[in-house]
Amino acid sequence: MKTEAELASWAATPWPELGLATPEALEASLGEFDAALAAARPEREAWLGRKRGLVTLINQNWLRLAPKEWKPALGAALNALRLRAEERLAATEAQAQPAATAWEDLTLPGRPALAAAMHPMLAVRDEITDIFLRLGYTVADGPEIETEYYNFEALNIPAGHPARDEHDTLYVGPGLPQHLLRTHTSPVQVRIMQHQPPPVRVIVPGRVYRRDTPDASHSPNFHQIEGLAVDRGLHLGHLKGTLDHFARAFFGPGVATRLRPSYFPFTEPSAELDVSCIFCQGSGCRTCKQSGWIEVLGCGMVDPAVFRFAGYDPAEVSGFAFGMGIERLTMLRYDWNDVQRQYAGDLRDLEQFR
Ligand SMILES: [Zn+2]
Repeated sequence: MKTEAELASWAATPWPELGLATPEALEASLGEFDAALAAARPEREAWLGRKRGLVTLINQNWLRLAPKEWKPALGAALNALRLRAEERLAATEAQAQPAATAWEDLTLPGRPALAAAMHPMLAVRDEITDIFLRLGYTVADGPEIETEYYNFEALNIPAGHPARDEHDTLYVGPGLPQHLLRTHTSPVQVRIMQHQPPPVRVIVPGRVYRRDTPDASHSPNFHQIEGLAVDRGLHLGHLKGTLDHFARAFFGPGVATRLRPSYFPFTEPSAELDVSCIFCQGSGCRTCKQSGWIEVLGCGMVDPAVFRFAGYDPAEVSGFAFGMGIERLTMLRYDWNDVQRQYAGDLRDLEQFR
């Protein structure tokens, strides 16, 4: 039996040169191709290639050169060879298929798709917001680029007041009135009171800015939630009751709270709210610096001067305000003591909170 190479040179030669003088001799020669096809593991290019395939060569050098009356029988024989070649090739290729896709192991477990989840900081923001929404507060917002008037003056921090220095303000461009990136969410208090008569119960979650060098506990951009309640006859007891409720709702029913006297220019009296340490239950640990208490937020009764700036009559109404850092509460909630990691978006961190 002829090899494929021998068959190729045979098919490339015009039949009269091969001495195949009759149609029967030509048909019998096609039988040799059949035998080779049946024995070989055929390749598509060698058999059915459009330029050098055996079937193509036979067509060019044998069938085309044959006398007209030979052609029907020869054509039928060549067609039959072409069909068998197709079948054999299809069968060989089908057998080869599983080897080519062996990596597709259908018994392997599927790869889980990563579902999106709320960032822990935003989850804490929403949780705090929800606690106050349930108390009848509404959510308000204000501009992040503020004037000195709203950020300082209307909050009882006149030019030259030492509190301005503590705020490390980022100013925006030259000119008057001087614009700045708000250093706290408190300017929204004034804006709300200017546009709405009392009573007011509002919380303001938002982004604030200070000229700080980033480290584990500082960032030039952080988040606060501001709260303001104004009505007739509100007093310190309402403030304490509200914040006590908030602390228990956020940290758990077991926490104790205390108000520690403090100072803010826009509240009088002012206080810091402490909660009993949620890590050591008050017995003293590194987080609470062995004191058993953790500072959570600043608060106080709205200073009458602020009411006057906002157009409210301090003889008619009173109120309280409070402000807390969302990063700090996120830190306490998740014992996540590096504020930079809260911004980093590192999946190794974030996946713990899904
Ligand atoms: Zn502690």
